[in-house]
Amino acid sequence: MANTTSVAIRKKQLETRLNELNVRLHGIEKTLDKLPPADVEDRATEREEDEVLEGLGTAGLKEIEMIEAALARIKDSVYGECTKCGEAISGQRLDLLPYTPLCRNCA
Ligand SMILES: [Zn+2]
Repeated sequence: MANTTSVAIRKKQLETRLNELNVRLHGIEKTLDKLPPADVEDRATEREEDEVLEGLGTAGLKEIEMIEAALARIKDSVYGECTKCGEAISGQRLDLLPYTPLCRNCA
């Protein structure tokens, strides 16, 4: 497992990126003007937002899901371990893809 300091840095990176994506997502929501105000903590609302994003490109949505999964792994203290083989994911790889669940061999 990665050391606490580097995980704290990754967490910050992931949260910053998630915020950016959410801002974009809320912009989309405003444009469509048909959903209630979103609470990012509200899972039901997130699902509605998922539907909004459908057809507008799923790349951002996919990234949000991966970031949320990565944040969950940080919470469970398993961040930085490959979810497939359990090996440590290299710091170099995490620099490029901080939310990746897989090591280079498994990706
Ligand atoms: Zn692996």
